[in-house]
Amino acid sequence: MFSRSRRARKLPDDGPRNGWYETLPPPPPARRVEGTVKADFAVIGAGTCGCAVARRLAELRPDDTVVLVEATRVGYGTSGRNAGFMLDHHSHGGMKHFEAASKNDRLFTAGTNYLRELVQQHQIQCDWSDWGRIYVAAETSSEGALKGVAEGFDKLGVPWRQVDNDGLEEITGTRFYLRGVRAEGSALVQPAAMMRGLASTLPINVTLYEESPVIELVTRGGFRLVCPEGTIEAKQVILANHVFAEELGFLKHRIVPLASFASLTRPLTDTEMGQVGSEGEFGLLPANANGSTVRLTLDGRILMRNTLHYARSKRFPPELMAEVADNHRQSITRRWPGLADVEFVGTWGGILGFTRNEGTVFGAIGAGLWALMSADAAPMTKGAIGGKLLAEHICGVDSELLEVMLSLPKAAILPPDPILRFVVNREIDKTAASGPGER
Ligand SMILES: Cc1cc2nc3c(=O)[nH]c(=O)nc-3n(C[C@H](O)[C@H](O)[C@H](O)COP(=O)(O)OP(=O)(O)OC[C@H]3O[C@@H](n4cnc5c(N)ncnc54)[C@H](O)[C@@H]3O)c2cc1C
Repeated sequence: MFSRSRRARKLPDDGPRNGWYETLPPPPPARRVEGTVKADFAVIGAGTCGCAVARRLAELRPDDTVVLVEATRVGYGTSGRNAGFMLDHHSHGGMKHFEAASKNDRLFTAGTNYLRELVQQHQIQCDWSDWGRIYVAAETSSEGALKGVAEGFDKLGVPWRQVDNDGLEEITGTRFYLRGVRAEGSALVQPAAMMRGLASTLPINVTLYEESPVIELVTRGGFRLVCPEGTIEAKQVILANHVFAEELGFLKHRIVPLASFASLTRPLTDTEMGQVGSEGEFGLLPANANGSTVRLTLDGRILMRNTLHYARSKRFPPELMAEVADNHRQSITRRWPGLADVEFVGTWGGILGFTRNEGTVFGAIGAGLWALMSADAAPMTKGAIGGKLLAEHICGVDSELLEVMLSLPKAAILPPDPILRFVVNREIDKTAASGPGER
């Protein structure tokens, strides 16, 4: 019988502290894979994709057993360490591939609605707020990019309105921004809390194992997933381990691993809150890719996200983290000089997957073997709906939305390093030069 074994070359490490996660109470001890665990389905990776696929499989196959296996803790990985924008639409200007953009847009909207429903149904405490977001430009050189955002929304039929410098000052307390494009509909969340809530409300036929990295995947009739203290035997496997799929030998040369970084402050004092506008909350996305994603959270913290880094190593060395923390400190100081010294509860990095063609990873990659990854823009919402749709695809439940997902182009092949590294670093440098004052 055909047999193949793949050992993971690299696993997620617990790297720099995820500030969102740090603000939550410690979770109960992890249930780890010990001895031999048998299941109908094993899902590798408990991010937005993995949690959604496990949930839906369990709903559709109530008599089957589903194992969700996570290397670290739920909420600690990228799905719990992002900026917390649950985007129902996303416009990044231009929209060269409009047909694909409009299909993606349907998926983003469905994903937002799906997550909203789950959060409401299970009363997940994650500071979910339908505040929307404002795309902002701080320099005249970025006004073209902002115009592109507005044109993209027009093409998609998404209503938006312009916010000027005074309006932005009213909302954010700073005159740093020249202009913005405000769109309603998307949500802001505490992402680590949302992920923890999603994982703790899975159907009873899902068993979650954490601190159990899959270090080897053996295919022989069924599948054997080897973890440090035990083994899972499963009839079918779903890879939802994002950029780490390539470390297990799958989806090679399809995904560009790009790190971005965030810092979260302690809650501002009442006096400090006087410096950050009148709405008690905001979410800003940069029109220029070199800019910063900035939030004032419902519990009064500033989140600052910027800086891009080619992350093939999937590691964040201390000197890089020191540089990032310094960037974030300067970004806060430029906007709110009076908040220059507010302490960070965490500065961390996370890896996003980008494709060459805004393509998808979705579907069968072998007999009984499936893969799903949330890449490019609006990934949390697309990942959630993608997980639900993949489970439906596996169980033969058709829908118009599934057809939309299946009709998207697959992630195109990429050149290997060092070519890819050179091209990506050149793009990062170009982006930095196009909006030096945006950060
Ligand atoms: C700083 C930052 C800000 C971002 N902001 C936003 C935002 O505001 N909105 C948005 O939509 N997106 C945002 N993103 C992107 C988004 O977070 C990711 O695209 C999304 O989380 C990917 O989800 P996923 O389920 O595919 O992967 P992940 O969340 O990475 O989940 C995969 C899981 O698999 C686990 N794993 C890996 N290997 C193994 C193994 N061998 N065995 C077991 N488990 C394994 C990992 O530990 C991980 O938990 C941001 C990303 C970053 C880094």
